[in-house]
Amino acid sequence: MVICMLSGKVAVVTGASRGIGRAIAVKLAEAGATVVINYNGSVEKAEAVCKEIVDNGGTASTYQCNVSDFAACEKFIQDVIAQYGRLDILVNNAGITKDGLLMKMSEEDFDRVVDTNLKGCFNCIRFVSRQMLKQKGGRIINMSSVSGIMGNAGQANYSASKAGVIGLTKACARELASRHITVNAIAPGFIDTDMTEVLSDNVKEEAIRQIPLGSFGKPEDIANLSVFLASEQAGYITGQVIHVDGGMSM
Ligand code: NAP
Repeated sequence: MVICMLSGKVAVVTGASRGIGRAIAVKLAEAGATVVINYNGSVEKAEAVCKEIVDNGGTASTYQCNVSDFAACEKFIQDVIAQYGRLDILVNNAGITKDGLLMKMSEEDFDRVVDTNLKGCFNCIRFVSRQMLKQKGGRIINMSSVSGIMGNAGQANYSASKAGVIGLTKACARELASRHITVNAIAPGFIDTDMTEVLSDNVKEEAIRQIPLGSFGKPEDIANLSVFLASEQAGYITGQVIHVDGGMSM
């Protein structure tokens, strides 16, 4: 069994008010990290995640920041460093969908998805990396998707953003490797969250037919890998895209 001890580490998880980000925040805190729970609009849900962590003996705080806003991300990361004095782990998890067929997709829906899912990762890495370079170490984990690997009809914007996350991950991994900062991406398949809850029963059934393990994953499936990638034990893994999708993309 791998023991992942993150005591003394400070972690930022974007989009941690719900779903996968929430599970990652809870598991990082269970492993001993101090966790900053970022959210955009769901203040009550973010506070509830924070309370759950603190009630279980962990350390956490919440921070509202729209990750697509470059200047807001600079202030966000500066504030975290001012509060905790260090920053060791960044999980770029915040993401949205605005699905639609190519011929009907608006410019706004394309831009909003790319701005949140791809530029949001860049914005946070941009400011976190300065601190990690000073610390000569760090862990950056970016949330990609099976849609970024295989493509998905109706998700030109989302698939492009998630494929972009893979390129961003590899470029940053090469740039930051000499300072022992690892950068990896996780590519989840279909995971039970608000994001997939809205899919019709037909779409869900068709998706399950394509998943060798025969079911949607749970947010904890992604959180378990995130904790490992954030740990000392994962120090020789960088620039990788790890698929957690029940075998869907093999
Ligand atoms: P979710 O349940 O819809 O939660 C999305 C989270 O992102 C929320 O915490 C939300 O905050 C936050 N968020 C959205 N826009 C934001 C912004 N501009 N700034 C800051 N935070 C923002 O989604 P999920 O299913 O957990 O997905 C998490 C990540 O995994 C996403 O990147 C998604 O693309 C990826 N993923 C999910 C699946 C899946 O099947 N669920 C599969 C592959 C990849 P608020 O609550 O404040 O709005």
